[in-house]
Amino acid sequence: MRNEGLGSWPARRARKTPHRTALIHGDTTVTYAQLYERTTRLAHALRARGVRRGDRVAYLGPNHPSYLETLFAAGTLGAVFVPLNTRLAGPEIAYQLADSGAKVLLYGPAHTGLVAGLPGGTDVRTYVRIGDEYEEMTAGAATEPIDESVAADDTCLIMYTSGTTGRPKGAMLTHANLTWNAVNVLVDTDLTAGERALVCAPLFHTAGLNMLTLPVLLKGGACVLVEAFDPAGTLDLIERHRITFMFGVPAMFDRMARHPRFPDADLSSLHILTCGGSPVPTSLIAVYQERGLTFLQGYGMTEAAPGTLFLDAEHAVAKAGSAGVPHFFSDVRVVRPDLSPAGVGETGEVVVRGPHVMPGYWGLPEATAASFTDGWFRTGDAARTDEDGYVYIVDRIKDMIISGGENVYPAEIEDLLLAHPDVVECAVIGVPDDRWGEVPRAVVVPRQGARPDPGEILASLAGRLAKYKIPKTVVIADELPRTASGKLLKPQVRRRYGGQLSP
Ligand code: ATP
Ligand code: MG
Repeated sequence: MRNEGLGSWPARRARKTPHRTALIHGDTTVTYAQLYERTTRLAHALRARGVRRGDRVAYLGPNHPSYLETLFAAGTLGAVFVPLNTRLAGPEIAYQLADSGAKVLLYGPAHTGLVAGLPGGTDVRTYVRIGDEYEEMTAGAATEPIDESVAADDTCLIMYTSGTTGRPKGAMLTHANLTWNAVNVLVDTDLTAGERALVCAPLFHTAGLNMLTLPVLLKGGACVLVEAFDPAGTLDLIERHRITFMFGVPAMFDRMARHPRFPDADLSSLHILTCGGSPVPTSLIAVYQERGLTFLQGYGMTEAAPGTLFLDAEHAVAKAGSAGVPHFFSDVRVVRPDLSPAGVGETGEVVVRGPHVMPGYWGLPEATAASFTDGWFRTGDAARTDEDGYVYIVDRIKDMIISGGENVYPAEIEDLLLAHPDVVECAVIGVPDDRWGEVPRAVVVPRQGARPDPGEILASLAGRLAKYKIPKTVVIADELPRTASGKLLKPQVRRRYGGQLSP
Protein backbone atom coordinates (compact mmCIF):
# COMPACT_ATOMS: atom_id res chain seq x y z
CA MET A 1 0.00 0.00 0.00
CA ARG A 2 1.27 3.42 -0.82
CA ASN A 3 0.72 6.46 1.34
CA GLU A 4 1.77 9.67 -0.38
CA GLY A 5 0.12 11.78 2.29
CA LEU A 6 0.79 13.37 5.65
CA GLY A 7 -0.33 10.19 7.37
CA SER A 8 2.99 8.64 6.37
CA TRP A 9 5.13 11.39 7.92
CA PRO A 10 5.37 9.90 11.44
CA ALA A 11 6.48 6.53 10.01
CA ARG A 12 9.04 8.16 7.74
CA ARG A 13 10.37 10.33 10.57
CA ALA A 14 10.44 7.36 12.96
CA ARG A 15 12.56 5.53 10.38
CA LYS A 16 15.06 8.39 10.17
CA THR A 17 15.07 10.07 13.57
CA PRO A 18 13.18 7.86 16.08
CA HIS A 19 14.78 9.33 19.19
CA ARG A 20 14.50 13.00 18.34
CA THR A 21 11.85 15.05 20.09
CA ALA A 22 8.82 15.85 17.95
CA LEU A 23 6.43 17.46 20.43
CA ILE A 24 6.67 19.07 23.84
CA HIS A 25 3.60 19.94 25.85
CA GLY A 26 4.01 20.97 29.48
CA ASP A 27 6.14 18.22 31.01
CA THR A 28 5.32 15.72 28.27
CA THR A 29 7.77 14.97 25.50
CA VAL A 30 6.88 12.89 22.45
CA THR A 31 9.67 11.46 20.27
CA TYR A 32 9.13 10.66 16.60
CA ALA A 33 9.06 6.93 17.43
CA GLN A 34 6.36 7.59 20.03
CA LEU A 35 4.46 9.87 17.67
CA TYR A 36 4.41 7.06 15.12
CA GLU A 37 3.28 4.49 17.64
CA ARG A 38 0.57 6.71 19.15
CA THR A 39 -0.67 7.74 15.72
CA THR A 40 -0.89 4.12 14.56
CA ARG A 41 -2.80 3.06 17.68
CA LEU A 42 -5.22 5.93 17.24
CA ALA A 43 -5.75 5.05 13.58
CA HIS A 44 -6.65 1.47 14.54
CA ALA A 45 -9.00 2.76 17.25
CA LEU A 46 -10.70 5.11 14.80
CA ARG A 47 -11.00 2.36 12.23
CA ALA A 48 -12.60 0.10 14.86
CA ARG A 49 -15.18 2.88 15.36
CA GLY A 50 -16.09 2.83 11.70
CA VAL A 51 -13.84 5.53 10.25
CA ARG A 52 -13.11 4.78 6.60
CA ARG A 53 -11.43 6.56 3.69
CA GLY A 54 -13.07 9.93 2.99
CA ASP A 55 -14.86 10.08 6.37
CA ARG A 56 -14.47 13.29 8.38
CA VAL A 57 -12.89 13.36 11.83
CA ALA A 58 -13.34 16.64 13.75
CA TYR A 59 -11.23 18.02 16.59
CA LEU A 60 -12.21 20.75 19.02
CA GLY A 61 -9.57 21.71 21.53
CA PRO A 62 -6.43 23.66 22.32
CA ASN A 63 -2.95 22.84 21.01
CA HIS A 64 -1.97 19.41 22.31
CA PRO A 65 -0.01 16.37 21.00
CA SER A 66 -3.32 14.57 20.34
CA TYR A 67 -4.13 17.29 17.81
CA LEU A 68 -1.32 16.19 15.53
CA GLU A 69 -1.80 12.52 16.33
CA THR A 70 -5.40 12.84 15.12
CA LEU A 71 -4.40 14.70 11.96
CA PHE A 72 -1.82 12.04 11.09
CA ALA A 73 -4.06 9.13 12.12
CA ALA A 74 -6.86 10.41 9.89
CA GLY A 75 -4.23 10.77 7.15
CA THR A 76 -3.14 7.13 7.43
CA LEU A 77 -6.76 6.02 6.93
CA GLY A 78 -7.40 8.38 4.02
CA ALA A 79 -9.93 10.16 6.26
CA VAL A 80 -10.29 13.92 6.39
CA PHE A 81 -9.29 15.95 9.45
CA VAL A 82 -11.56 18.86 10.42
CA PRO A 83 -10.03 21.22 12.99
CA LEU A 84 -12.63 23.42 14.71
CA ASN A 85 -12.16 26.90 16.12
CA THR A 86 -12.30 26.74 19.92
CA ARG A 87 -13.63 30.29 20.12
CA LEU A 88 -16.86 29.46 18.30
CA ALA A 89 -20.16 29.19 20.16
CA GLY A 90 -22.21 25.95 20.32
CA PRO A 91 -24.46 26.70 17.32
CA GLU A 92 -21.45 27.64 15.17
CA ILE A 93 -19.67 24.41 16.11
CA ALA A 94 -22.86 22.48 15.38
CA TYR A 95 -23.03 24.14 11.95
CA GLN A 96 -19.46 23.14 11.07
CA LEU A 97 -19.99 19.60 12.34
CA ALA A 98 -23.14 19.24 10.25
CA ASP A 99 -21.58 21.01 7.25
CA SER A 100 -18.51 18.76 7.26
CA GLY A 101 -20.55 15.64 8.05
CA ALA A 102 -18.00 14.58 10.68
CA LYS A 103 -18.56 11.09 12.13
CA VAL A 104 -16.19 11.45 15.06
CA LEU A 105 -15.51 14.39 17.36
CA LEU A 106 -12.46 14.52 19.58
CA TYR A 107 -12.65 17.35 22.09
CA GLY A 108 -10.67 18.92 24.91
CA PRO A 109 -11.88 18.61 28.51
CA ALA A 110 -12.69 22.33 28.65
CA HIS A 111 -15.28 21.78 25.91
CA THR A 112 -17.17 19.02 27.73
CA GLY A 113 -20.11 21.30 28.56
CA LEU A 114 -20.33 22.74 25.07
CA VAL A 115 -20.23 19.27 23.49
CA ALA A 116 -22.91 17.94 25.88
CA GLY A 117 -25.15 20.82 24.86
CA LEU A 118 -24.71 20.41 21.09
CA PRO A 119 -28.01 20.10 19.24
CA GLY A 120 -28.77 16.98 17.20
CA GLY A 121 -28.71 17.02 13.43
CA THR A 122 -25.04 16.14 13.00
CA ASP A 123 -23.58 12.82 11.86
CA VAL A 124 -21.31 12.52 14.88
CA ARG A 125 -21.64 9.05 16.41
CA THR A 126 -18.42 8.84 18.37
CA TYR A 127 -17.30 11.41 20.93
CA VAL A 128 -13.84 11.10 22.46
CA ARG A 129 -12.62 13.35 25.24
CA ILE A 130 -8.90 14.14 25.17
CA GLY A 131 -7.17 12.87 28.30
CA ASP A 132 -8.29 9.67 29.99
CA GLU A 133 -10.85 8.68 27.37
CA TYR A 134 -8.41 9.20 24.51
CA GLU A 135 -5.60 7.38 26.32
CA GLU A 136 -7.88 4.46 27.19
CA MET A 137 -9.15 4.16 23.65
CA THR A 138 -5.64 4.09 22.15
CA ALA A 139 -3.85 2.06 24.83
CA GLY A 140 -5.46 -1.22 23.81
CA ALA A 141 -5.24 -0.62 20.06
CA ALA A 142 -2.91 -2.44 17.66
CA THR A 143 0.43 -1.08 16.48
CA GLU A 144 0.72 -2.84 13.12
CA PRO A 145 1.27 -0.42 10.25
CA ILE A 146 -1.97 0.76 8.64
CA ASP A 147 -2.42 -0.69 5.16
CA GLU A 148 -4.41 1.98 3.34
CA SER A 149 -3.30 3.67 0.14
CA VAL A 150 -3.60 7.43 0.14
CA ALA A 151 -2.88 9.61 -2.89
CA ALA A 152 -1.34 13.07 -2.79
CA ASP A 153 -4.47 14.57 -4.30
CA ASP A 154 -6.81 13.09 -1.68
CA THR A 155 -8.28 15.63 0.71
CA CYS A 156 -6.36 15.80 3.97
CA LEU A 157 -8.11 18.65 5.76
CA ILE A 158 -11.26 20.65 5.66
CA MET A 159 -10.12 23.85 7.26
CA TYR A 160 -12.58 26.64 7.83
CA THR A 161 -11.53 30.18 6.93
CA SER A 162 -11.28 32.64 9.80
CA GLY A 163 -14.71 34.15 9.15
CA THR A 164 -13.36 37.70 9.11
CA THR A 165 -15.66 38.78 6.31
CA GLY A 166 -18.62 36.44 6.78
CA ARG A 167 -19.50 32.86 7.64
CA PRO A 168 -16.38 30.65 7.57
CA LYS A 169 -16.06 28.47 4.46
CA GLY A 170 -14.51 24.99 4.53
CA ALA A 171 -11.40 24.97 2.34
CA MET A 172 -10.52 21.46 1.13
CA LEU A 173 -6.76 21.03 1.35
CA THR A 174 -5.14 18.00 -0.18
CA HIS A 175 -2.05 16.18 1.07
CA ALA A 176 -0.22 17.68 -1.90
CA ASN A 177 -1.37 21.22 -1.01
CA LEU A 178 0.02 20.86 2.52
CA THR A 179 3.22 19.17 1.38
CA TRP A 180 3.99 21.85 -1.20
CA ASN A 181 3.31 24.55 1.36
CA ALA A 182 5.75 22.91 3.78
CA VAL A 183 8.31 22.63 0.98
CA ASN A 184 7.86 26.34 0.26
CA VAL A 185 8.56 27.17 3.90
CA LEU A 186 11.66 24.95 3.90
CA VAL A 187 12.95 26.50 0.69
CA ASP A 188 12.33 30.10 1.73
CA THR A 189 13.56 30.06 5.35
CA ASP A 190 16.71 28.76 7.05
CA LEU A 191 14.67 26.17 8.96
CA THR A 192 16.87 23.29 10.18
CA ALA A 193 16.38 19.95 11.92
CA GLY A 194 17.63 21.64 15.09
CA GLU A 195 14.61 23.92 15.25
CA ARG A 196 12.67 24.32 18.46
CA ALA A 197 9.46 26.01 17.44
CA LEU A 198 6.96 27.70 19.72
CA VAL A 199 3.41 26.93 18.63
CA CYS A 200 1.31 29.47 20.48
CA ALA A 201 -0.86 30.25 17.46
CA PRO A 202 -3.91 27.96 17.44
CA LEU A 203 -3.59 24.80 15.35
CA PHE A 204 -7.14 25.24 14.03
CA HIS A 205 -5.98 28.21 11.97
CA THR A 206 -3.87 27.70 8.92
CA ALA A 207 -0.76 29.59 10.00
CA GLY A 208 -0.09 27.79 13.30
CA LEU A 209 -0.46 24.39 11.65
CA ASN A 210 0.93 24.94 8.18
CA MET A 211 3.52 27.70 8.40
CA LEU A 212 5.10 26.42 11.57
CA THR A 213 4.23 22.97 12.92
CA LEU A 214 4.09 20.87 9.75
CA PRO A 215 7.30 22.21 8.16
CA VAL A 216 9.16 21.66 11.46
CA LEU A 217 7.85 18.08 11.78
CA LEU A 218 8.69 17.35 8.14
CA LYS A 219 12.27 18.46 8.81
CA GLY A 220 12.54 16.58 12.13
CA GLY A 221 12.61 19.51 14.54
CA ALA A 222 10.68 19.94 17.79
CA CYS A 223 7.45 21.84 18.43
CA VAL A 224 6.55 23.24 21.83
CA LEU A 225 2.75 23.27 21.95
CA VAL A 226 1.07 25.96 24.01
CA GLU A 227 -2.63 25.88 24.80
CA ALA A 228 -3.24 29.62 24.79
CA PHE A 229 -1.14 32.63 23.97
CA ASP A 230 -0.26 34.98 26.77
CA PRO A 231 2.57 37.49 26.49
CA ALA A 232 4.38 36.80 29.79
CA GLY A 233 4.07 33.03 29.38
CA THR A 234 5.44 33.29 25.85
CA LEU A 235 8.49 35.27 26.97
CA ASP A 236 9.09 32.63 29.68
CA LEU A 237 8.83 29.76 27.22
CA ILE A 238 11.19 31.41 24.75
CA GLU A 239 13.81 31.60 27.50
CA ARG A 240 13.13 28.19 29.03
CA HIS A 241 13.16 26.20 25.78
CA ARG A 242 15.62 28.44 23.93
CA ILE A 243 12.99 28.82 21.19
CA THR A 244 14.47 29.31 17.73
CA PHE A 245 11.38 29.73 15.55
CA MET A 246 8.09 31.38 16.19
CA PHE A 247 5.10 32.44 14.16
CA GLY A 248 2.66 35.06 15.35
CA VAL A 249 -0.01 37.35 14.06
CA PRO A 250 0.73 41.05 14.59
CA ALA A 251 -1.62 41.25 17.60
CA MET A 252 0.45 38.61 19.43
CA PHE A 253 3.79 40.28 18.77
CA ASP A 254 2.25 43.60 19.78
CA ARG A 255 1.07 42.27 23.14
CA MET A 256 4.51 40.75 23.78
CA ALA A 257 6.25 44.03 22.97
CA ARG A 258 4.00 45.94 25.36
CA HIS A 259 4.68 43.60 28.25
CA PRO A 260 6.91 45.08 30.98
CA ARG A 261 9.23 42.05 30.76
CA PHE A 262 9.90 42.52 27.05
CA PRO A 263 12.93 44.85 27.33
CA ASP A 264 14.81 42.42 29.61
CA ALA A 265 13.67 39.10 28.16
CA ASP A 266 16.42 36.96 26.63
CA LEU A 267 15.33 36.55 23.02
CA SER A 268 18.77 35.69 21.69
CA SER A 269 17.81 32.14 20.71
CA LEU A 270 15.22 33.30 18.14
CA HIS A 271 16.41 33.09 14.57
CA ILE A 272 13.20 32.81 12.55
CA LEU A 273 10.39 35.14 13.48
CA THR A 274 7.52 35.02 11.05
CA CYS A 275 4.69 37.51 11.28
CA GLY A 276 1.59 37.62 9.12
CA GLY A 277 -2.06 36.77 8.81
CA SER A 278 -3.13 40.40 8.85
CA PRO A 279 -1.43 43.70 8.01
CA VAL A 280 1.85 44.07 9.91
CA PRO A 281 2.06 47.65 11.30
CA THR A 282 5.33 49.39 10.40
CA SER A 283 5.59 50.66 13.99
CA LEU A 284 5.63 47.03 15.19
CA ILE A 285 8.35 46.07 12.71
CA ALA A 286 10.43 48.95 14.13
CA VAL A 287 9.97 47.87 17.79
CA TYR A 288 11.34 44.38 17.04
CA GLN A 289 14.05 45.76 14.80
CA GLU A 290 15.29 47.78 17.78
CA ARG A 291 15.71 44.50 19.65
CA GLY A 292 17.70 43.14 16.72
CA LEU A 293 14.81 40.90 15.65
CA THR A 294 13.68 40.88 12.07
CA PHE A 295 10.23 39.75 11.00
CA LEU A 296 9.92 37.59 7.98
CA GLN A 297 6.56 38.69 6.73
CA GLY A 298 4.14 36.12 5.40
CA TYR A 299 0.99 36.71 3.44
CA GLY A 300 -1.44 33.96 2.68
CA MET A 301 -4.88 32.53 3.23
CA THR A 302 -6.51 29.29 4.31
CA GLU A 303 -7.40 28.49 0.68
CA ALA A 304 -3.71 28.52 -0.30
CA ALA A 305 -2.56 26.29 2.58
CA PRO A 306 -1.62 29.27 3.22
CA GLY A 307 1.86 30.52 2.17
CA THR A 308 1.61 32.79 -0.85
CA LEU A 309 3.96 35.74 -0.50
CA PHE A 310 7.03 35.72 1.72
CA LEU A 311 9.60 38.33 2.63
CA ASP A 312 12.84 36.48 3.35
CA ALA A 313 15.59 37.40 5.80
CA GLU A 314 17.83 38.90 3.14
CA HIS A 315 15.24 41.51 2.15
CA ALA A 316 13.34 41.89 5.42
CA VAL A 317 14.91 45.24 6.29
CA ALA A 318 15.30 46.80 2.85
CA LYS A 319 11.70 45.93 1.94
CA ALA A 320 10.11 46.27 5.41
CA GLY A 321 6.37 46.66 5.07
CA SER A 322 6.22 44.48 1.97
CA ALA A 323 4.77 40.97 2.10
CA GLY A 324 7.59 39.95 -0.24
CA VAL A 325 7.57 37.89 -3.39
CA PRO A 326 5.80 34.61 -4.20
CA HIS A 327 6.98 31.47 -2.43
CA PHE A 328 9.21 29.24 -4.58
CA PHE A 329 6.34 27.04 -5.80
CA SER A 330 3.69 29.73 -6.05
CA ASP A 331 2.61 32.10 -8.78
CA VAL A 332 1.12 35.41 -7.77
CA ARG A 333 -0.12 38.32 -9.84
CA VAL A 334 -1.62 41.68 -9.02
CA VAL A 335 -4.32 42.24 -11.61
CA ARG A 336 -6.99 44.62 -12.85
CA PRO A 337 -10.64 43.52 -12.79
CA ASP A 338 -10.25 41.96 -16.28
CA LEU A 339 -7.28 39.94 -14.94
CA SER A 340 -4.71 41.84 -17.00
CA PRO A 341 -1.57 42.63 -14.94
CA ALA A 342 -1.62 45.92 -13.02
CA GLY A 343 1.33 48.22 -13.64
CA VAL A 344 4.09 49.04 -11.14
CA GLY A 345 2.54 51.00 -8.26
CA GLU A 346 -1.00 50.41 -9.48
CA THR A 347 -3.43 48.89 -6.96
CA GLY A 348 -5.07 45.67 -8.11
CA GLU A 349 -6.31 42.33 -6.78
CA VAL A 350 -3.94 39.57 -5.71
CA VAL A 351 -4.54 36.29 -7.54
CA VAL A 352 -2.61 33.07 -6.88
CA ARG A 353 -2.00 29.76 -8.58
CA GLY A 354 0.15 26.83 -7.57
CA PRO A 355 0.33 23.32 -6.16
CA HIS A 356 -0.56 24.67 -2.69
CA VAL A 357 -3.91 26.18 -3.74
CA MET A 358 -7.04 24.25 -2.72
CA PRO A 359 -9.20 22.50 -5.30
CA GLY A 360 -12.28 24.21 -3.82
CA TYR A 361 -14.61 24.84 -0.90
CA TRP A 362 -16.32 21.85 0.68
CA GLY A 363 -19.94 21.65 -0.40
CA LEU A 364 -19.94 25.12 -1.98
CA PRO A 365 -19.58 24.68 -5.76
CA GLU A 366 -20.87 28.19 -6.45
CA ALA A 367 -18.47 29.87 -4.04
CA THR A 368 -15.68 27.76 -5.55
CA ALA A 369 -16.59 28.80 -9.09
CA ALA A 370 -16.78 32.45 -8.03
CA SER A 371 -13.32 32.27 -6.43
CA PHE A 372 -11.40 31.05 -9.47
CA THR A 373 -10.87 32.70 -12.84
CA ASP A 374 -8.83 30.79 -15.45
CA GLY A 375 -7.31 28.66 -12.68
CA TRP A 376 -6.28 31.68 -10.57
CA PHE A 377 -7.65 31.94 -7.04
CA ARG A 378 -9.02 35.42 -6.42
CA THR A 379 -7.95 36.48 -2.94
CA GLY A 380 -10.13 39.58 -2.59
CA ASP A 381 -7.07 41.45 -1.33
CA ALA A 382 -5.79 44.68 -2.86
CA ALA A 383 -2.04 45.16 -3.38
CA ARG A 384 0.62 47.11 -5.24
CA THR A 385 3.92 45.90 -6.67
CA ASP A 386 7.16 47.90 -6.68
CA GLU A 387 9.72 48.04 -9.48
CA ASP A 388 11.56 45.00 -8.03
CA GLY A 389 8.39 42.88 -7.95
CA TYR A 390 7.85 43.16 -4.17
CA VAL A 391 4.19 43.13 -3.27
CA TYR A 392 2.65 45.48 -0.70
CA ILE A 393 -0.73 44.32 0.59
CA VAL A 394 -3.03 47.34 0.74
CA ASP A 395 -6.20 45.96 2.33
CA ARG A 396 -9.19 43.76 1.66
CA ILE A 397 -11.15 45.02 -1.33
CA LYS A 398 -14.37 44.53 0.69
CA ASP A 399 -13.16 47.00 3.33
CA MET A 400 -12.40 49.74 0.82
CA ILE A 401 -14.20 53.05 1.41
CA ILE A 402 -15.24 55.15 -1.59
CA SER A 403 -15.25 58.82 -0.61
CA GLY A 404 -16.12 61.40 -3.24
CA GLY A 405 -15.19 58.89 -5.94
CA GLU A 406 -11.74 58.21 -4.42
CA ASN A 407 -10.79 54.75 -3.14
CA VAL A 408 -9.66 54.81 0.48
CA TYR A 409 -8.02 51.74 2.00
CA PRO A 410 -8.44 51.75 5.80
CA ALA A 411 -5.23 49.82 6.48
CA GLU A 412 -3.07 52.73 5.32
CA ILE A 413 -4.76 55.06 7.80
CA GLU A 414 -4.70 52.45 10.57
CA ASP A 415 -0.95 52.00 10.09
CA LEU A 416 -0.37 55.72 10.76
CA LEU A 417 -2.80 55.84 13.68
CA LEU A 418 -0.99 52.92 15.34
CA ALA A 419 2.21 54.95 15.33
CA HIS A 420 0.51 57.50 17.63
CA PRO A 421 1.88 57.01 21.16
CA ASP A 422 -1.57 56.96 22.79
CA VAL A 423 -3.20 54.52 20.34
CA VAL A 424 -3.05 50.78 21.09
CA GLU A 425 -5.62 49.52 18.60
CA CYS A 426 -7.66 51.12 15.89
CA ALA A 427 -10.03 50.42 13.03
CA VAL A 428 -11.07 52.70 10.23
CA ILE A 429 -14.51 52.21 8.71
CA GLY A 430 -16.67 54.06 6.21
CA VAL A 431 -19.79 55.87 7.41
CA PRO A 432 -22.50 57.37 5.18
CA ASP A 433 -22.09 61.03 4.28
CA ASP A 434 -24.51 63.24 2.31
CA ARG A 435 -21.81 65.06 0.42
CA TRP A 436 -19.11 62.43 -0.20
CA GLY A 437 -21.19 59.25 -0.16
CA GLU A 438 -18.93 57.76 2.51
CA VAL A 439 -16.26 59.19 4.77
CA PRO A 440 -13.68 57.44 6.97
CA ARG A 441 -14.21 57.18 10.71
CA ALA A 442 -11.49 56.08 13.15
CA VAL A 443 -12.35 53.87 16.11
CA VAL A 444 -9.48 54.08 18.56
CA VAL A 445 -8.56 52.13 21.69
CA PRO A 446 -6.29 54.33 23.81
CA ARG A 447 -3.28 53.21 25.82
CA GLN A 448 -4.20 52.48 29.44
CA GLY A 449 -4.42 55.68 31.40
CA ALA A 450 -4.24 57.89 28.29
CA ARG A 451 -7.09 60.23 27.38
CA PRO A 452 -6.23 61.21 23.85
CA ASP A 453 -7.91 64.20 22.29
CA PRO A 454 -9.63 63.19 19.02
CA GLY A 455 -8.69 66.51 17.44
CA GLU A 456 -5.05 65.96 18.27
CA ILE A 457 -5.12 62.41 16.86
CA LEU A 458 -6.51 63.71 13.58
CA ALA A 459 -4.01 66.57 13.55
CA SER A 460 -1.22 63.98 13.72
CA LEU A 461 -2.34 62.69 10.31
CA ALA A 462 -2.40 66.09 8.62
CA GLY A 463 0.10 66.40 5.83
CA ARG A 464 0.81 62.62 5.91
CA LEU A 465 -2.36 61.57 4.12
CA ALA A 466 -4.47 63.08 1.37
CA LYS A 467 -7.30 65.15 2.89
CA TYR A 468 -10.04 62.75 1.78
CA LYS A 469 -8.30 59.92 3.65
CA ILE A 470 -8.28 61.74 6.98
CA PRO A 471 -11.13 60.46 9.16
CA LYS A 472 -13.92 62.95 9.76
CA THR A 473 -14.77 61.53 13.18
CA VAL A 474 -12.99 59.61 15.93
CA VAL A 475 -14.70 57.26 18.35
CA ILE A 476 -12.87 56.19 21.50
CA ALA A 477 -13.56 52.54 22.37
CA ASP A 478 -12.55 50.13 25.14
CA GLU A 479 -11.80 47.24 22.80
CA LEU A 480 -12.33 46.06 19.25
CA PRO A 481 -14.02 42.85 18.10
CA ARG A 482 -11.42 40.37 16.87
CA THR A 483 -11.21 36.77 15.67
CA ALA A 484 -9.37 34.08 17.63
CA SER A 485 -6.18 34.99 15.80
CA GLY A 486 -6.55 38.68 16.52
CA LYS A 487 -7.96 39.85 13.19
CA LEU A 488 -10.23 42.84 13.21
CA LEU A 489 -13.83 41.84 12.58
CA LYS A 490 -14.68 44.80 10.37
CA PRO A 491 -18.35 43.89 9.84
CA GLN A 492 -18.82 43.96 13.62
CA VAL A 493 -16.85 47.19 13.98
CA ARG A 494 -19.12 48.74 11.34
CA ARG A 495 -22.24 47.47 13.10
CA ARG A 496 -21.10 48.68 16.50
CA TYR A 497 -19.50 52.00 15.62
CA GLY A 498 -20.84 52.91 12.18
CA GLY A 499 -24.02 54.65 13.32
CA GLN A 500 -24.73 58.30 13.95
CA LEU A 501 -22.77 59.77 16.84
CA SER A 502 -24.71 61.46 19.58
CA PRO A 503 -23.69 65.10 19.70
P1 ATP B 1 -12.80 34.79 5.71
O1 ATP B 1 -12.21 34.35 4.41
O2 ATP B 1 -13.62 33.73 6.35
O3 ATP B 1 -13.46 36.11 5.67
P2 ATP B 1 -10.05 35.36 6.46
O4 ATP B 1 -9.88 35.78 5.04
O5 ATP B 1 -9.56 36.31 7.52
O6 ATP B 1 -11.57 35.00 6.77
P3 ATP B 1 -7.83 33.56 6.55
O7 ATP B 1 -7.73 32.61 5.43
O8 ATP B 1 -7.37 33.11 7.89
O9 ATP B 1 -9.34 33.97 6.70
O10 ATP B 1 -7.01 34.88 6.25
C1 ATP B 1 -6.53 35.25 4.97
C2 ATP B 1 -6.57 36.75 4.82
O11 ATP B 1 -5.79 37.42 5.85
C3 ATP B 1 -5.99 37.24 3.52
O12 ATP B 1 -6.89 37.12 2.45
C4 ATP B 1 -5.65 38.71 3.88
O13 ATP B 1 -6.81 39.53 3.79
C5 ATP B 1 -5.22 38.63 5.33
N1 ATP B 1 -3.74 38.57 5.44
C6 ATP B 1 -2.99 37.48 5.61
N2 ATP B 1 -1.68 37.79 5.69
C7 ATP B 1 -1.59 39.13 5.56
C8 ATP B 1 -0.50 40.06 5.55
N3 ATP B 1 0.77 39.69 5.72
N4 ATP B 1 -0.81 41.36 5.35
C9 ATP B 1 -2.07 41.76 5.19
N5 ATP B 1 -3.13 40.94 5.20
C10 ATP B 1 -2.91 39.63 5.39
MG1 MG C 1 -10.66 34.98 3.29
